[in-house]
Amino acid sequence: MHEINDETRALREAIFEYVRVRTNYNPVPLDSSQSEAELLSQAGQTITEQGLGGNTALKLFEEVLAPATISTDHPGFLSFIPNAATEASRLFDVIVSASSIYGGSWMEGSGAVFAENQVLSWLAKEVGLPETAGGVFVQGGTVGNLSALVTARDAHREMLSKAGIDFTGRLAFIASKEAHSSLKSAAKVMDVDILLAKPEENGKLLATSVKEVLTAAEPNSVFAIVATGGTTNFGIVDDLRGIGEVAKANKIWYHVDGAYGLAGILSPKYRHLFDGSELADSFIVDPHKWLFAPFDACALVYRNPSMAKASHTQHGEYLETLTESGLWNPADYSFGLTRRTRGLPLWFSLATHGIQKYREAVEKNIDLAHQAADLIRGLDYLELVREPELSVVVFERKGWGLADYDSWSEKLLKDEIGFVVSSSHQGKPNTRFAIVNPLTSIELLSKILESMN
Ligand SMILES: *Cc1c(COP(=O)(O)O)cnc(C)c1O
Repeated sequence: MHEINDETRALREAIFEYVRVRTNYNPVPLDSSQSEAELLSQAGQTITEQGLGGNTALKLFEEVLAPATISTDHPGFLSFIPNAATEASRLFDVIVSASSIYGGSWMEGSGAVFAENQVLSWLAKEVGLPETAGGVFVQGGTVGNLSALVTARDAHREMLSKAGIDFTGRLAFIASKEAHSSLKSAAKVMDVDILLAKPEENGKLLATSVKEVLTAAEPNSVFAIVATGGTTNFGIVDDLRGIGEVAKANKIWYHVDGAYGLAGILSPKYRHLFDGSELADSFIVDPHKWLFAPFDACALVYRNPSMAKASHTQHGEYLETLTESGLWNPADYSFGLTRRTRGLPLWFSLATHGIQKYREAVEKNIDLAHQAADLIRGLDYLELVREPELSVVVFERKGWGLADYDSWSEKLLKDEIGFVVSSSHQGKPNTRFAIVNPLTSIELLSKILESMN
């Protein structure tokens, strides 16, 4: 399996050729998903005792499997949160795969971890955290939020114990009703309560609402307050300063969930929306969402990383040589042990292009969302659900029910124009554009809006 001969060399070239073709598409084929029965009839059983051989397996991927996966980097992929990795980052991901780097410890991965840490330090600086801040790249925002909240809970328990307070009730954290589902998931895994604070009509969570929930909560029960730096549904940024001040005044951990939106802080024009982010005890931002890096990566950063280390370091006989080394081991800062150095593709792209290009790309996406909102306001058959703040625009087609959205959406995909699925707000169906791809143009958005007439 590991030997190198003419056949394996030819396969290697074929794979490099695939990468060359895939990275050269402009635009990429949008493709579509297929049923399991269809795929089985075309691909058959691919796992066999003798193996299919690389050429056959690659051909299967190219002709059957790849066309059955939607390209999230197509400029018309505007659903959920798309992915628009730079060429530098996606090619470097190939190098990461080819290099067998263990990213859990400094002893094994120092060069790669050093580079990842420079990216994390840069993000911490943009957000306004001190130079001593640090963290780790994890798989995604879900794991990032969970890891931060576990640290917050442990820090809270330690604080209570130091103060001689014997708290036996249920622990809880506060988050907005419009916060991401991963927070509810974290509460479930941690077996703690999530107290939902009501945002304003425009979707923004304010300090007053957080204060109300905190006042009503059992004393000593609340271990963290979470603000969202760009909601996933609407791209609305909570009042980060106001909420952060409530957290500080009550000595409660302040976590900013910026998985999608915190990248917006890079834009000088929209940076003000994130005022107060510097109060965070921890934050996350997903490079696979809006920092133009491939799946999957979440930057998780703590103001005081030693607290995370106390929560997350795993101990075991074979590990102690690492844990006792006194070195910076990324595995100490999140839930999980073995890790791919998933921050490296972003590192390479940033090192290549420089920060300025990122500022411009993010700002362009936000400007485009505002332009799209202007277009929608000008079309009498459409209605904006909310004013956009970052790069998400949510709107309704007047008179349409869910089935109308769904058949329109299917046709858009079939025509290879875009992937724009239905969503809903307060029980009413709508649709949304999530714009994180610099190749998405106002012409394309206009064409999609016209197709709803
Ligand atoms: C996407 C998202 C998450 C979850 O991140 P994953 O990378 O999908 O796990 C959490 N919070 C917010 C605000 C998000 O947009």
